[in-house]
Amino acid sequence: RFVELIMATDSGSFLESPKGDQSLTADFEFPKNRNQWKQDKNCIVCYTACGSLGITNAKKYRCKFCFRGVCSKCSTRTAWQPELQEYKRICRNCYQKTLEKHYMQGYSEELKEAKSANEDYKIRIDQEIQEKKVIIDERVKIEEQIEELRKEHRKKKEELLKTIEALENEKTDLDTKTDTIETQLYEVKNEVDGKNQQIYKLETAIKKIKDKNDKDKDEIGELREKLAEAQDENVSLLRKIESKRSLAPAENKKEKKQKEREMKLMETLDQLNDKYRDLETKNQQIEEEIKKTEEDIEERDEQIKEIKEQLSEQVTKPTINYDEEEQVKELRTKVQEQQNEIVRLKSQLSKKKKKP
Ligand SMILES: [Zn+2]
Ligand SMILES: [Zn+2]
Repeated sequence: RFVELIMATDSGSFLESPKGDQSLTADFEFPKNRNQWKQDKNCIVCYTACGSLGITNAKKYRCKFCFRGVCSKCSTRTAWQPELQEYKRICRNCYQKTLEKHYMQGYSEELKEAKSANEDYKIRIDQEIQEKKVIIDERVKIEEQIEELRKEHRKKKEELLKTIEALENEKTDLDTKTDTIETQLYEVKNEVDGKNQQIYKLETAIKKIKDKNDKDKDEIGELREKLAEAQDENVSLLRKIESKRSLAPAENKKEKKQKEREMKLMETLDQLNDKYRDLETKNQQIEEEIKKTEEDIEERDEQIKEIKEQLSEQVTKPTINYDEEEQVKELRTKVQEQQNEIVRLKSQLSKKKKKP
């Protein structure tokens, strides 16, 4: 464009030249010396000799911008003279200079704009790269977190399964123990029932023996009374014998008979006494046996009581104790939380992935 304009300048005629843009020469730098054209003997553009004296072949004009001498061919244009505030003759040098300056300015501005646009673009791209990097870093972090949480979750799950297994084993053990104790208790109860029956039998037997004893005692009492009576009779008979001995020997016979009866009674009494002693010894033995059995029963009762206490302890004791149950609950809650966290992180991640 610049070259085209220069060419146009060359071919144009002076007065026909279009009045250019005022801004083209608005900041033109004017020389200090405004009389230089007077000394110029040649056109400063084409070096054709020119002058005002008319000897030479070209008329000398004055460029109103550089104030130098030029020929008419080299100053066919006018331009806005900011000092004089009107369009004035301009030499080809000055015109070229202004055009050059103008276009250079335009280009440099365009270049500047393009450069700054480029800079902006670069900055924007850098920013985008940085943002993308941040997002990628964040994504990597989140993926690491998810992996960690997964590991932790797996570990917790394994622990929980182990705890559950241990608790189940404990429960099975306790069930087995309870069964054993119940069987033992059942056996002891049966034994106690047997003993009670035995005791009942023994008590019945004792009662019978006691009744018999009482009866025997009554009999002994009766016999004693009879004995006493017989002794009394004996005494009286002895007295009679004493008194009659002197009187009649015939009565000796009677006396003898009396003595024999007496002897017989004494024998019976001895026998009864022996029987009584035997019965008492037997009685004592039976009482001792009863005492022993009662002690035995007492001991059994104690054993039963102990076993019952043990049983009730084990029955009331929960198979899974409170602390363990709490622990299991806590662990379950934690696992749930972690699962929620994973879901949340996943949704975050998917949101970030959707973003451009
Ligand atoms: Zn010239
Ligand atoms: Zn000039």
